Amino acid sequence: MLTGRNAVVTGGSRGIGRAIVERLCRDGAHVLFNYATSDDAAAEVVRAVRDKGGEASAVRIDLADPDGPEQLMEAAEARLGGLDILVNNAALCLPPSLIADTEPDVFDRVMAVNTRAVFMTIRHAARRMGEGGRIVNISTANTVRQGPGICAYAASKGAVEQITAVAAHELGARGITVNTVSPGATDTEMLRGANEPEALEAVAGLTPLGRLGEPEDVADVVAFLVGHDGRWMTGQNVRATGGLA
Ligand code: NAP
Repeated sequence: MLTGRNAVVTGGSRGIGRAIVERLCRDGAHVLFNYATSDDAAAEVVRAVRDKGGEASAVRIDLADPDGPEQLMEAAEARLGGLDILVNNAALCLPPSLIADTEPDVFDRVMAVNTRAVFMTIRHAARRMGEGGRIVNISTANTVRQGPGICAYAASKGAVEQITAVAAHELGARGITVNTVSPGATDTEMLRGANEPEALEAVAGLTPLGRLGEPEDVADVVAFLVGHDGRWMTGQNVRATGGLA
């Protein structure tokens, strides 16, 4: 159980982030999540959590903005009063584009949200978290199953995995664990926006468990890592992929 624990989840308005918010709230955590633009979706998540007796609030902060991570941590301090759990979930996955065709500003935008914001939220969280803190960064199976057109995305997530590994060494002495969770193909707007339906059928066929993942499949793994039972795991990359990678 996470009763009395304060958590920040980035990108909690939809998809995997929403499932993580709902799961952590169900376990008793008080969760603040951010989002970029989806005001209505965010309000719906807060309502759904409160309807079930949980505690969640939302703040609109764009993590592409260099000041976004600090603003988020300040909002956490103001609303939660302390920080025990940070889940870096928000990310941008644009339609596939070959390296030769990718404009530099597109690459920079992906890196700003997917990598720089993760580094910066951890930088700010590290100054606020105490003994027993938990950080989970969401990566992707695409760092081990590459294909054409995903360079910016795969590179941004490869960097996140390295941030996890180093942060685990730096924060371990203070009793803070840092892990990566790498989903496989998971049925969300991001996945449907970046892939044709036939491609998704093919991925499901290649997956040993025979289907796409659901956001809750990933949220349950995150809940394990941030809970008491995850206390002896740090610096790991847990692949929640149905066996795809
Ligand atoms: P999604 O459905 O596109 O949701 C993305 C969430 O991140 C939304 O809440 C969105 O807010 C927020 N977000 C995006 N850009 C942001 C920004 N600049 N500032 C603040 N918030 C921002 O994505 P998802 O499929 O659930 O993916 C969640 C995580 O899992 C990502 O890290 C992704 O790389 C990873 N992942 C997903 C899959 C998959 O198949 N779905 C596979 C492997 C890894 P708005 O609603 O306001 O836009």
